Amino acid sequence: MQLLKERILQDGKCFEGGILKVDSFINHQMDPRLMKSIGDEFARLFASSGVNKIMTIEASGIAPAIMTGYLMDLPVVFAKKKSPKTIQNALITTVHSFTKDRDYEVVISSDFLTPNDKVLFVDDFLAYGNAALGVIDLMKQSGAQLVGMGFIIEKAFQNGRKMLEEKGVRVESLAIIEDLSNCQIKIKE
Ligand code: 5GP
Repeated sequence: MQLLKERILQDGKCFEGGILKVDSFINHQMDPRLMKSIGDEFARLFASSGVNKIMTIEASGIAPAIMTGYLMDLPVVFAKKKSPKTIQNALITTVHSFTKDRDYEVVISSDFLTPNDKVLFVDDFLAYGNAALGVIDLMKQSGAQLVGMGFIIEKAFQNGRKMLEEKGVRVESLAIIEDLSNCQIKIKE
């Protein structure tokens, strides 16, 4: 997605350890016009996938997920990182956070992830694919079907795609970062 690639090159910042900061337009401050274009792109890519629900994990996945859900006229559900006392029929999995270097629990109610759901998972980043693995586990627990995963930014050098594709998952990313070494952002053409 050309607009996104240009924005990453213009405003993205590179951090030690292969971390890309996109705080000024995706992860902290957000650009709604760009987010709408991102939603358009996911809607186009997954138009014929049979998807009937969009899923993400809080917090950074919510903006692209809600845009995609709005544009595809589909419900959106997000897995929570803290289990509310009031949650009913909780499905729980453990995810390793790459940026925070710790494990955390992710929770979703089986009221909102059911065997009738054909799910598109949308998130901000694909790195090693740990969050995606947690989602696959939640899908299995719920009986829902995964039709694909859409990421705004994929860091190809951390190999999440390879791991997911080996599991038969359809992966679509709107910008692929090939390299961040020496704090140079190299994006796939
Ligand atoms: P994974 O689970 O694929 O290893 O990592 C994906 C999750 O970690 C994303 O949901 C995102 O929140 C976070 N993450 C991974 N790499 C980066 C990065 O370079 N920059 C930012 N801002 N978040 C990242």
